[in-house]
Amino acid sequence: MINKNFLYKGGAVTALALVIWLTGYTEVPLEPGYGYLVKDPSGEYRAVNAGEDVWLFPLIGELIGYRLGTNILRCPVELMTADGEVTLELVAEVELNSDVAPELHHFLGEDLAAGLGELADRLLTETVGDFTTSELWWGRRNEFGGFADEILTEALTDGTPGLTVGNIYIPAILEGAPEPTGERRLVILGIDALDEKLLTDFIAEGWLPNLNNLLESGYYSVLRSEAPYFSPVIWTTIATGLPPREHGLTDFTLPTPEGDRRPITTGDRLAPTYWEIVAEEGLPPITVNWYASWPAREMPVGETLTSYAWEPRFTRVYEPIIYFEKLPYRTWPEGIMEEVDTAIARRPYIGEDDYPKGWRLETVERQSGNPLVHYLTRDALTANALLHLMDTRDWRVAACYVEAADVACHLLWPAHALWWERYRGNPALVPPRTSEYLKAVAENEWDTIIRDFYVWADRLIGAVLQELEPGDVLIVLSDHGFASVYPPADTPVGGGEVQRMSYWHDATGVLIMYGAGIKQGETGAEASVYDICPTILALLGIPPAEDMPGRVLTEALEPIVAKMLKEGPLSQLVPSYGREKPRGAPELTAELSKTELERLRAIGYLQ
Ligand SMILES: [Zn+2]
Repeated sequence: MINKNFLYKGGAVTALALVIWLTGYTEVPLEPGYGYLVKDPSGEYRAVNAGEDVWLFPLIGELIGYRLGTNILRCPVELMTADGEVTLELVAEVELNSDVAPELHHFLGEDLAAGLGELADRLLTETVGDFTTSELWWGRRNEFGGFADEILTEALTDGTPGLTVGNIYIPAILEGAPEPTGERRLVILGIDALDEKLLTDFIAEGWLPNLNNLLESGYYSVLRSEAPYFSPVIWTTIATGLPPREHGLTDFTLPTPEGDRRPITTGDRLAPTYWEIVAEEGLPPITVNWYASWPAREMPVGETLTSYAWEPRFTRVYEPIIYFEKLPYRTWPEGIMEEVDTAIARRPYIGEDDYPKGWRLETVERQSGNPLVHYLTRDALTANALLHLMDTRDWRVAACYVEAADVACHLLWPAHALWWERYRGNPALVPPRTSEYLKAVAENEWDTIIRDFYVWADRLIGAVLQELEPGDVLIVLSDHGFASVYPPADTPVGGGEVQRMSYWHDATGVLIMYGAGIKQGETGAEASVYDICPTILALLGIPPAEDMPGRVLTEALEPIVAKMLKEGPLSQLVPSYGREKPRGAPELTAELSKTELERLRAIGYLQ
């Protein structure tokens, strides 16, 4: 006889099981770029396909999503150094796909980053004992990072056969960092048109060891620029932290009452630059050849060599410089050029051996001699003057601007595109009416002229690194990148005028920061040209102004430095560093004005 009660109970159990079974069914999402795993009650992981219906043990089984391709695992690691306790931030890049993802989870657990942290706690304890905390803060972190990379890569690939492990590095000390002491000094190298694509290519080919070192042990981000990509406009935006309509320099030239045009000057500038602000605070700045820096303004401390400090003729570097000698305010204080010129002629920091091939190029299809030689000469003078002043003065922020890479791109970009197309086998965007001359340049691999200017900039960085002390910070930046744009685009240049451009600047410059207190090996979110001035001020302990649209790039800083800045200069913002009416400038000699306009025409900035 069948027990009704049993039947009833049995039915209830079956119904419950049915409910459990039904609720256990899950459809794997169809999310592009993502893969999924199932974690079984036994703790095993298995890969499942997108769109598939999978059964998960209710309340216990789990569907775990992960990004296909490069995953960045970031975790804190607590370690005992030779002299104390630190918490380091550790980053590891791993490539995930459905083959390795289950194994890696099996090895590290459900939370990969946390698992990596435990692994690192265990495996790095012995090695870190050879380092003091301050060595990990600055000077030997890369060395320790190298060990960490080796040890953890081996452990990860042993634990997960087939796993591809990318960089492993230590961007920051999260806790236990030594309190930064002493006065931080900044060096700023403005390199016109330093382009991310070219930088990446040339580094990969091994041409730029110093830039490679900065990227490995410093902070990198794209620096977003703003149209119009005119160098004097953007470099003034960078220096003032203000938009062109606020700082007043909106073009290369301004109309004269006679209906002509004249080059812009600091007399047209409406707001102070960072170097003028810091000088007022008593911190001596050195500034060499910054775009649109003539006439030099008086400052209580520091020195300026303006963009008209030299007029290099189309000749060798260290010949007597005559042309601009009578120009007033080409430096502040006045009368320092003789000492600078004599010193750098006697002992150049960057000599002729470091010059790129463009130096020896006889003609680059322009009437007015070889503009590359002109610019390289000025860049060489600029770099050597900067290094001389850094060597012989007391300073807190030292900066220079160099231009030859931009000019080389203006003159040779189509050749570069042609050459690259052949070299890489990928179609490049080559201007349709590329001249026979430029085709011949590409044919003869003269395109390496552009690369040579990058090599020269790399040597400049190397020379600057040798002058740095342990607490110093180096900032390398560009105002825009370079690109082929077809068909030619009309760019508004102010006053209702437009300029037609084909191969030209693009919106992405680069920013590299390096030194004690700067994150190491990290690539961060995009920064803007507006962020540079506030960041410079804050790093020097000076409050940025509320009317500066940019922000201080605290994400580039070690947490302890970011915190000090937030509690210090960032808690004391000032409303504004002021505006003034155009104060005018002593008149440029007619000949100088003409030369400057010719220079702008030679690289296509003026029609
Ligand atoms: Zn530029």
